[in-house]
Amino acid sequence: MRTVIYPGSFDPITNGHIDIIQRAAKLFDKVIVAVARNESKNPLFTLQERIELVSVSAKHLPNVVCDTFEGLLVNYVEAQGGGAVIRGLRAISDFEFEFQLALMNRKLNERVETIFMMPKDTYTFLSSRIVKEIAGLGGDVSAFVPQVVRTALLEKLTKKPD
Ligand code: ADP
Repeated sequence: MRTVIYPGSFDPITNGHIDIIQRAAKLFDKVIVAVARNESKNPLFTLQERIELVSVSAKHLPNVVCDTFEGLLVNYVEAQGGGAVIRGLRAISDFEFEFQLALMNRKLNERVETIFMMPKDTYTFLSSRIVKEIAGLGGDVSAFVPQVVRTALLEKLTKKPD
C-alpha cells in the first residue's frame, strides 16, 4: 500500500490543488491531504472550515482522505505510514522555497521523499492568496475554485466587518 501526503494550508482549496490531488491519486494507493494548522499564517478559514472544504471538493476521489497536522511534517508522514510528500510546482517562483523545504525535510528524515508535480498549465497562475484577493474585491472566482469554496468565500467575505 503506497501512501503519499499532500500537505498545505489550503486556505482555501483551489482547482490547482485539486488538479495535483487527482494526479497523485492516480499514482498512489492512498493520498492524505494534510491541512496544516498554520495559525501563524493568519488563515481566512478556520482549520475545521479548510478541512470541510477539502473533504467536499475531493469526495469524488475514493482513495483520497483529508486530515490535519501540526509540528514537523516528516514526523507526521512517518506516523501515517507514508514514504513521500507531494508538493505542487507552479512556476519558477515556487522553486527556490520548495527546493529549500525539500532538502531540509530530507535532512530531518532521509526516508521521506519529496515529489513535485506540475498542474495543468491553466492553473499555474492560481494561488489561494490571489483567489481571496479577487473574491474580496467582488470578482468572480467560479473558474478557479469549486462551487462550495466560492460560496464559502462569499459568506466569509460579506460577513467580515470592513
Ligand atoms: P503552503 O502554505 O504549504 O504553501 P498551499 O495550500 O498554498 O500551502 O499549497 C500547498 C501546495 O500546493 C504547495 O506545494 C503549493 O506549491 C501547491 N499549490 C498551490 N496552488 C497550486 C496550483 N495552482 N497548482 C499547483 N500546485 C499548487
